[in-house]
Amino acid sequence: MGLLEDLQNRSGNQCELCGATEELKVYEVPPVSTGGLDGSLLACSTCLGQIENPDTVDSNHWRCLNDSMWSEHDAVKVVAWRMLNRLKSEGWPQDLLDMMYLDDEVLTWAKATGEGQDVADMVVHRDSNGVILENGDNVVLIKDLKVKGSSMVAKQGTAVRRISLDRENAEYIEGKVDGQQIVILTKYVKKL
Ligand SMILES: [Zn+2]
Repeated sequence: MGLLEDLQNRSGNQCELCGATEELKVYEVPPVSTGGLDGSLLACSTCLGQIENPDTVDSNHWRCLNDSMWSEHDAVKVVAWRMLNRLKSEGWPQDLLDMMYLDDEVLTWAKATGEGQDVADMVVHRDSNGVILENGDNVVLIKDLKVKGSSMVAKQGTAVRRISLDRENAEYIEGKVDGQQIVILTKYVKKL
């Protein structure tokens, strides 16, 4: 059986978020590396459209989470948690969130897309052009940099592969230059 059939069986052929029975599709809950039956849910086009386009969210539609947040399936809980976070300024979603309990593992999954974090709390790293940097990116130095605590100079044009981000400070990244791990200011790099 395919994933769609498995999900149809699991859900009794209804949207696992709102219970609708029409236009049901597989939704692989991002990040899709989870995948498979446990990483997916069956959702209707109304739910899917609003999940994918935050601008079109109709908060009343999501009153359905009052029921579906109690699902036994982690994928459903994760999406419920994300949507409640998106809507929490309305009040009632925050009340539901307060009642909701997710295991650490499931909570980590739920947070993996950045949903639920206040923008102010998010540490976003950007290069000299304002392009967002992520762990594992490759960057190039846009000027010669003296390496603190050594006589080494990292030359302009040097590629730094697989950088790691400083979790606390959006201005710092780390990477290897000439085999040495150094801290670099994001304003002196350009993403490759
Ligand atoms: Zn639905």
